[in-house]
Amino acid sequence: MLKGREGVRVDIIDRLPTPFGLVRSGVAPDHPETKIVVNQFSRVAANPRCSFFGNVTLGSDLSLSELRKTYDVVVLAYGAESDRSFGIPGEDLRGIHSAREFVWWYNGHPDMCNLAPDLTNTDSAVVLGQGNVALDVARILLRCTTELASTDIADYALDALRSSTIRKVYLVGRRGPVQAACTAKELREILGLKNVNVYIKEADLATSPADKEEMRNSRIKRRVYELLSKAATVHQENNDNDRKELHFVFFRKPTKFLPSEDGSTVGAMELEKTLLKDDGATGKQVAVGTGEFEELKCGIVLKSIGYKSLPIEGLSFDKYRGVVPNLRGRVLSSESETATVEPGLYVVGWLKRGPTGIVATNLHCAEETVDSILEDDRKGLFTDPSGPKRQGRRGLLEILEQKNARYVPFDGWEKIDTKEKADGELKNKPREKITRWNELLEAARE
Ligand code: NAP
Repeated sequence: MLKGREGVRVDIIDRLPTPFGLVRSGVAPDHPETKIVVNQFSRVAANPRCSFFGNVTLGSDLSLSELRKTYDVVVLAYGAESDRSFGIPGEDLRGIHSAREFVWWYNGHPDMCNLAPDLTNTDSAVVLGQGNVALDVARILLRCTTELASTDIADYALDALRSSTIRKVYLVGRRGPVQAACTAKELREILGLKNVNVYIKEADLATSPADKEEMRNSRIKRRVYELLSKAATVHQENNDNDRKELHFVFFRKPTKFLPSEDGSTVGAMELEKTLLKDDGATGKQVAVGTGEFEELKCGIVLKSIGYKSLPIEGLSFDKYRGVVPNLRGRVLSSESETATVEPGLYVVGWLKRGPTGIVATNLHCAEETVDSILEDDRKGLFTDPSGPKRQGRRGLLEILEQKNARYVPFDGWEKIDTKEKADGELKNKPREKITRWNELLEAARE
């Protein structure tokens, strides 16, 4: 927006006192190269026409309708802060967490710093799903803690992982190796972990003509399948106590979470064997149950089957797809064919497209939304000579003052950043994240 139109002012509102969303709380601590994009974000924030208002929650500190009355353009970019669920028996047993909760926990998100997953009551963890988030979670459970110690992982998570008794991680997919949702680079990384033996059943690698067709149409699928096939043939070293195990479990659909013997926590997964069938409508191969069940013992389950966006008051929402209905980023009044465009309201990122794609995908997605905004601006859609002039930043500050909301400006974040980096330096980490709300707010004010 700043590049696209001279004189435009942009205010970024975030419910956290810290900026950068997924880069801070989603990207794995052992992927520092992915976080480099923060430098680009910080340059944008340094532009005098851009301001940051952290610690301001849309929905409680200010409403969408207040925002729309205050600004010519409102862009919703609040992502996907909830999780898909299975809706099967036992899902609320202790020891079952969504991958998002677990990721937020090890990344020091202040909403999950008290999660305290029990990593010491079991030697087996089950991760449900085979996307890149599932791989992140499995890798953090398996990676040597000496390697994690020099990352920006939250200190309490490093301590918990150091005393973890988990030696076996089962990555469970309802479909086969050709359909695994992860990408090759991430798969190669986990397959190459030191001190980890990888187990893949040869029989699961058999391919059907439909699988071959899928691979012909997708280089990523082909690469993923090749990597899994190669890993299946690697001779595994003797399993002494130092070596952990990563098991790829294909063609298994979760049907029940079973309690441990004393009922205090999850003790096993009931899985149904599946077959792949062509779904006539989409041409996709879908998993169908065979009626044959088995149990997989474990003491912790991490559900990694996708994030979910949440609606807010005054916003149309497609609850089946979990996105805001939109036309190239322009928010629509509903999902129906007669929907109209909501003037001045736009959407971007996972809230616009659903929870898929990497940082670069979101950059392209932002460009599309900004193009729509600039096009509407050229058409004069934001200048209504008969209507009241929108107050912009001045109006926002008035609302925040009325509600007694204490926002964190960008230089408040810079104070947090400086403190985290200084604390990190003492431990040879890029930063030691502050993980509690009150401590973040204190650091921002120091
Ligand atoms: P994802 O890639 O969509 O994977 C979701 C996984 O959950 C798939 O294996 C899917 O299987 C499975 N699943 C969904 N519903 C299920 C159900 N009801 N029962 C059983 N399994 C089910 O999502 P994600 O892993 O959360 O990742 C989100 C996005 O972030 C992706 O685009 C990912 O590439 C990206 N990301 C990238 C990186 C990286 O580049 N390093 C790291 C993390 C995340 P089906 O295929 O059968 O539906």
